[in-house]
Amino acid sequence: MSLTSPVPNPATGIAFTAVGQLCFYCETTILTDPAVHWHGVIGSIYFHPACVFPLFIRLARDLHELERPDAYRSRP
Ligand SMILES: [Zn+2]
Repeated sequence: MSLTSPVPNPATGIAFTAVGQLCFYCETTILTDPAVHWHGVIGSIYFHPACVFPLFIRLARDLHELERPDAYRSRP
């Protein structure tokens, strides 16, 4: 994970910005930096900073269901 920035890297002169990328969570265009960047085996994904926490909550809930499936089953 890394954060994007409009400020160019002093060594390369290249800015790593997320402006114009789609947020993986809310699917709207990212208009400002900093944003959150994850690089995986199939490429990069970007998030608005505010979208990271709601995604984390949903991931944690799904993981909890995998660990304790009985807690999520309907009861008669
Ligand atoms: Zn978003």
